[in-house]
Amino acid sequence: MSNIRHILSISGGKDSAALAFHLRDTRPEIDFEYVFFDTGEELPETYDYLKKLERALGIKVEYIHPQKSFEKLLQQYNNFLPSPTERWCTRQLKLDALIDYVKEGVIYNYVGIRADENRTGLIPHRDDFKTVMPFVEDGITLNDVKRILAENEVGLPEYYELVHDKEHNITYNRTRSGCYFCFFMRQIEWVWLLEKHPDKYWKASAFEKDGFTWIRDMSLEAFAKPANITRVKESYKKYEEYKKNHKVKNGTMMEEMDFLNRHDIDLNDFEDDQFCSMCAL
Ligand code: SF4
Repeated sequence: MSNIRHILSISGGKDSAALAFHLRDTRPEIDFEYVFFDTGEELPETYDYLKKLERALGIKVEYIHPQKSFEKLLQQYNNFLPSPTERWCTRQLKLDALIDYVKEGVIYNYVGIRADENRTGLIPHRDDFKTVMPFVEDGITLNDVKRILAENEVGLPEYYELVHDKEHNITYNRTRSGCYFCFFMRQIEWVWLLEKHPDKYWKASAFEKDGFTWIRDMSLEAFAKPANITRVKESYKKYEEYKKNHKVKNGTMMEEMDFLNRHDIDLNDFEDDQFCSMCAL
C-alpha cells in the first residue's frame, strides 16, 4: 500500500454519498478507500443506503468499529450522556476509530462540506492528516448534490421520506445520518423516531439515567406523552408557517425571536444544526 492514502468516509448521508460519485467522475486517477464509522447505534435506513451505494458505485465500504461500544463508553462516563457541549461520542466513536484505522501513511481525508455551507468538523490536527473539501473546491452546492444523486439513480436516504400527518396538516422527516439518538436532532425528529422506530426510541430512553436526558429538562418517557407530541407538532406547524410567510434569511433575528416567543414555539426545536463532518455528511 502506498504511503499516501485517500480516505472518503461515507456517513450514510446525502453529501458523502454524492461526494463518492463526484470523486469517481472528477478524480478517476485516485485510488480511494471508502470507510463507514459504525457506532452500532445506527438506523436500518443507513445500512440500506450504504448497500445501495456499494452497488451503484461498484465499491466496497469498510465498516470501522470503535474499540468500545456506546454502552460501555456511557458506563465509563458514569451515564453522562454526550451533548453539544460535551461531545465525547464523536471523538470516542469516530475520530479515535479513524486514527486507529489509518495508523500510518499520509492521509488525505475527503469530506463532503459543500460550497454553500459553513460547517466545521472535528478534524485531527496532525501534519500527516490533510483535509480535502472537493465540493468547496469545485463549487458544488445542495442542488448539485441532489442532481448527482438523482443522475446516479440512488436518490436520498430513505429517512428523508416525508411523513404526512393529516390531523396536524404537517409533513416532517429526519434530515441527518448518524446515531438514531443524536442530541442535535430537532424535537420533531424525536417524534419521527418514536413513530418510525419505537424500538430505537425506547433504547435511547433506557440510556437516560441519573437525571441525564437527551432533550434538555425532559426525559424521553415524558416527551412521548400524547399531549407533548401534540405540543411539538403544533409548534412545528407554526414555525413552518412562519418560514413560508417570512423569508427567514431576510427577517432580522429580533423579528424571528419575537415571533417564536409570541407563538409559544420552543426555541430548542429550531436551533441551527451544528453537525460536523464526521457525523452527518
Ligand atoms: S451522530 Fe450525534 S450522537 Fe452520534 S457520534 Fe455524532 S454527534 Fe455523537
